[in-house]
Amino acid sequence: MKVFKFGGASVKDAAAIKNVGSILLRFEHEPVLVVVSAMGKTTNKLEECLTYLLAQDQLNYYHTVDSLRDFHIDIAGELFHDQHSKVFRFIDDIFEQLKNKFEKPLAEQRSFEYDQVVSLGEVLSSFIINEYVLELGLKSEWLDARRLIRTDNHYQEGNVNWEKSEALIIDRLKSSIQQTNTFITQGFIGHTAEGFTTTLGREGSDYSAAIFAFCTNASEVTIWKDVPGMLNADPKYFENTQLLSKISYREAIELAYFGASVIHPKTIKPLQNKEIPLFVKSFIEPEAPGTTIQSAGGNDHLIPSFIVKKNQVLITISSADFSFINEDALARIFEIFYTNRIKINLMQNSALNFSVLVDGDKVHLETLLAKLNPSFKCKYNEGVELVTIRHYNHATITQMTRGREILIEQRSRQTARFVIR
Ligand code: ASP
Repeated sequence: MKVFKFGGASVKDAAAIKNVGSILLRFEHEPVLVVVSAMGKTTNKLEECLTYLLAQDQLNYYHTVDSLRDFHIDIAGELFHDQHSKVFRFIDDIFEQLKNKFEKPLAEQRSFEYDQVVSLGEVLSSFIINEYVLELGLKSEWLDARRLIRTDNHYQEGNVNWEKSEALIIDRLKSSIQQTNTFITQGFIGHTAEGFTTTLGREGSDYSAAIFAFCTNASEVTIWKDVPGMLNADPKYFENTQLLSKISYREAIELAYFGASVIHPKTIKPLQNKEIPLFVKSFIEPEAPGTTIQSAGGNDHLIPSFIVKKNQVLITISSADFSFINEDALARIFEIFYTNRIKINLMQNSALNFSVLVDGDKVHLETLLAKLNPSFKCKYNEGVELVTIRHYNHATITQMTRGREILIEQRSRQTARFVIR
């Protein structure tokens, strides 16, 4: 079985979905499990709905829910000419449930409500796409990942129970594999033992593809993107980018971890564990070879890669009473970051200071500083950048840091990282 993943950009409108259909038609005679994201910016919009729901702002809640419903109905209207297609009913039901949520009591845990609301984008897109490819003549089946991927109760970032998920997925596929070639399911979502929906973390659909591949012992995974493959830099910010045509799992995981946004960092481990090759290909040019990620990577060092993370906040934490930042202090600091789900992009310590770099758009600075207070004193710089150069040399460092003030510099044998402004 092959596993494909189509992200939000590849299913952002009716034309994009038609393109997905044409790619799937090329594989109609072999088993393919397709993992899809929510359409376009739906997840962000659902996050907005949640904010209004929690704030009990009825006007804005209904308005945002309605506009999201119209977005899906319009796309379905372009794909299905039969007004009685069950897709329209499905879309309406979902949005009606969402609207009705306003009248119901909310759970105390925000992250629980997040998962119940924000997961719906993938449910909608996968259902619409499945109905569409059925119309194209594919023998396709819709799979509900909320019955297949089992996680713990860590809402918003569920931890996968691999054994249980494998058993559920194998069992579900067994009953259909004789008569079906194409399976369409959702990225990003799973369920708890009690049957509540969980999500796997933002951008988590790549990870879902890896989970399905691991559990089905897939022969390969392809992530279809709007770029030709994994590039050595983001073409939005760099000219003359180069395609990384073959890289190792290790290299891919490092690049993803440092912030290369092409694949989610959690995707690689399950694939590496079963030696399942990962292809990153263009959905605009499906014939092009793209990037292959697999075990051997003798040439990883040949092309330097550049990753820039903008809008970072550098927070310098020191103890309030001039004592060392020792293991005990670090443990307390990490506990605060962990429980507030704040990811650290880079850290550095000295006798009295511990500096961390976090994403400006993901941290609520005031809340974090209040939690660190009064045990620790904090200073911070907003709007700085993190530049990572993999396989650096003198020239590439000069190129990336010229004319900038370097606040932190770290180098290992393969990687140089700079916090600059
Ligand atoms: N729709 C989710 C998000 O935008 C998951 C994904 O697309 O990977 O984060």
